Amino acid sequence: MLTSAERRVLGQIDRFRDEMVGFLQSLIRIPTINPPGENYDPCARLIGDFLSNLHYDVSYIVAEDHPDHSVDFPRVNVLGRLEGSGAGPAVHLNGHTDVVPAGEGWTVDPFGGTVKDGRVYGRGACDMKGGIASALFAAAALRDSGVDLFGALEFSGTVDEESGGFAGMAHLAEEGFITPEKTACVIIPEPLNVDRICLGHRGVYWFEIETLGRIAHGSMPFLGSNAIDMMGSLIDRIDRSLRPELARRHTSMPVEPPGARQATLNINGIFGGQPQHGVGSPCVADRCAAVFDRRFLIEEPIADVKFEINAILDEMRSADPDFQAELKELMVVEPVETARDADVVLAATGAIQDVLNTPASYIASPGTYDHKHVVNIGGVSQCIAYGPGMLDLAHQPDEYCEIEHMVQSSKVIALSIMRLSGT
Ligand SMILES: [Zn+2]
Repeated sequence: MLTSAERRVLGQIDRFRDEMVGFLQSLIRIPTINPPGENYDPCARLIGDFLSNLHYDVSYIVAEDHPDHSVDFPRVNVLGRLEGSGAGPAVHLNGHTDVVPAGEGWTVDPFGGTVKDGRVYGRGACDMKGGIASALFAAAALRDSGVDLFGALEFSGTVDEESGGFAGMAHLAEEGFITPEKTACVIIPEPLNVDRICLGHRGVYWFEIETLGRIAHGSMPFLGSNAIDMMGSLIDRIDRSLRPELARRHTSMPVEPPGARQATLNINGIFGGQPQHGVGSPCVADRCAAVFDRRFLIEEPIADVKFEINAILDEMRSADPDFQAELKELMVVEPVETARDADVVLAATGAIQDVLNTPASYIASPGTYDHKHVVNIGGVSQCIAYGPGMLDLAHQPDEYCEIEHMVQSSKVIALSIMRLSGT
């Protein structure tokens, strides 16, 4: 049952439809391509100006110490805050402003913002500038309808999510902008379909293993020790024993697609021996390195994940004195999951029912997104991803966002804010 104030806000969002489309087009026309991280500043300003017009307190937070920050490619984040009239819980909305490169295969200009058949096309239309537009117009509708929120409302546009978010959401959390004292909950409008709430994601353990051989003339391989052969043995060992074991481990998290409800291991890259281009010299390869991408479950402690791979290396070392390998850790991201009975989940669930007249479903993401920084650095346990656009279209050619989905999720976000914050 909607209150009259809620009905007013939803009506205002309907009236914002064309403006929302126009704003999304403006966002798409700023090609914030990452890597390398282009045009973050104008994109942050566009969002900042929007928030300033709503009388938000706007600041630009630049991650100057981050290694990817440079004069040419500054890491500019934007944060706006509107104080509430009381001591209600503060709701934080967050969207990443970066997009992945356009790639091949487009039938429209990837940075043109073409509107066609009720959709807005462009790189980032669904992941996730459509979500940014939805969330901003939810904030605008609350303001224009004269809704008096008890809690503060914040919006952040952050950089580099596609490359880990370290100069973006992680930076904001490190700088104390996302804390349990300041932030009751965070809603990230990533493209996960309008009736689905994403509760979290699996963990990531990236590591590099380098096998170390002994160089010799390629015509007499028996005089050396080949690092590529060693890597081959290691991969074979992983294939025969570790991968089947990982496939048997299942998570209780509702990860989509269901194929990702188990632990997985991918080899992201491998390099060894002579360079691939030009004529090489005949040598026994003395170095081979591969990068492994282990996705682990919330049920698997990270210490066990690390122990398991190290145990394989130890075993191979003791079986073959010539086998030499070094493991280097590249990145660890702990899995996160917001409880289904958390206020933010309940609010979004009710709002989806009221706006779409359909029950919400719950998912978890196979890959990570900025949720990890909210929880692991910010210490804020209530975070969901909810927004317009279909996940399958993200990073694809002819990416688009349905206009109707933007409007619907803007309504869901607005209702969620009202019910979380109190009016
Ligand atoms: Zn995204």
